[in-house]
Amino acid sequence: MIQQDTVIIGGGIAGLWLLNRLRQQNKAVILIENNALGGIQSIASQGIIHGGTKYALTGQLSAAAKAIGEMPQRWQDCLQGCGDIDLKAVEISAQHQYLWSTGQLHSNISGFFASKMMKSRMTSIPKSEMPEIFQLSAFKGQLYQLNERVLNPQSLMRVLAEKVKPYCLYQDMIKIEKQSNGFLLSFKNHPSIQVKQLILTAGQGNAGLLKQIGMKQPKQQIRPLQMLMLKGNLFPITAHCLGTSTTPKVTITSAHEQDQTVWYLGGQLAEEGVGLDSKSHIEKGKACLAKNLSWVDISKCQWASFKINRAEVKMDGNKRPSDVFIEKNNHLITAWPTKLALTPRLVDQILDRLDPIANATKDHDFTIQSPPFARLPWQNIQWETP
Ligand code: FAD
Repeated sequence: MIQQDTVIIGGGIAGLWLLNRLRQQNKAVILIENNALGGIQSIASQGIIHGGTKYALTGQLSAAAKAIGEMPQRWQDCLQGCGDIDLKAVEISAQHQYLWSTGQLHSNISGFFASKMMKSRMTSIPKSEMPEIFQLSAFKGQLYQLNERVLNPQSLMRVLAEKVKPYCLYQDMIKIEKQSNGFLLSFKNHPSIQVKQLILTAGQGNAGLLKQIGMKQPKQQIRPLQMLMLKGNLFPITAHCLGTSTTPKVTITSAHEQDQTVWYLGGQLAEEGVGLDSKSHIEKGKACLAKNLSWVDISKCQWASFKINRAEVKMDGNKRPSDVFIEKNNHLITAWPTKLALTPRLVDQILDRLDPIANATKDHDFTIQSPPFARLPWQNIQWETP
């Protein structure tokens, strides 16, 4: 049996960020991941480092907007190499996002402009400076630039994972038992690990782990999404199409894949796609783009529809939590970041509540077989041809 001071379970953004922070301090901690480093939600995210604008579309600075408002600067420091973790090597997919509307954009965001804080983040841009796709004469609307960055999720997760890979164990746990002085983790092909302190950052996996430990709280909620993607000769864009709801009609982020551009479609289109079969969802996506980006030829694109769950702490009415969540019960911490962008804040709060951890004396007294890296959703998917 192996003795280990602290174990993190789950190698998505939350677990990897925490492991990086603790290893910087030479703490005796390892992470266990049973699928791939990079997570499930994290690698499938749109990589948007929200600063709260999306939540402030109603014109009111909600609790969610306030919690997330400080995050862009935290990330900016990391991206410049002077923050919590050196993320200089992370690929930035877009320096800004755009907001467009086929109707009166002003009416959609007038409330939003009422907020001074939000005003500073938005700029109206002249046609000559618009991205190519909006310079085409068929686009008649107004376009605003939103000064919030978008990161390439694969690059982000790889940079985080590379730094701590020797401390990540690729194992499927078969049992967790609560003991008087901690927990006993048992595996099929690995010696058991006796651990003093356990941190659950397993996303949707947290619920099952809590159940095994015999914990009734905290409870988890799942908010499903069905993302769409299309691949072809497309202009890369990062933009939100605004309608009357606070959720954009569609949020498009872009990536390069084998000399082509992939558009990854979230927003209302992903929320309303839940429960639809792939064919009907793709038809809905085509209709949405035909209406809101009518001047773009998508006829030769390949399409795919992809189901994914957001895992969060349980809220009344399955509402989106407005902030990160952590709960500590004796030597067990359960955490959900709620948003990728909120992870630095989540990890600050975990670090504040951890039991003291011994310094690592030697790397390990067991051999680590590290998990593979996660792949982007469109690298694993079956595309439907036009
Ligand atoms: P995950 O990334 O899901 O990682 C959990 C890890 O735990 C996984 O690797 C899993 O394999 C592992 N695990 C589970 N069970 C076990 C077990 N028993 N043993 C070992 N390992 C286990 N947020 C933003 O801020 N900006 C965005 O643009 C954005 N876009 C999003 C788009 C989509 C489609 C989705 C679904 C979410 C998006 N989010 C976004 C939210 C964000 O992705 C999540 O809040 C965040 O990634 C959650 O990270 P996590 O580490 O908690 O979970």
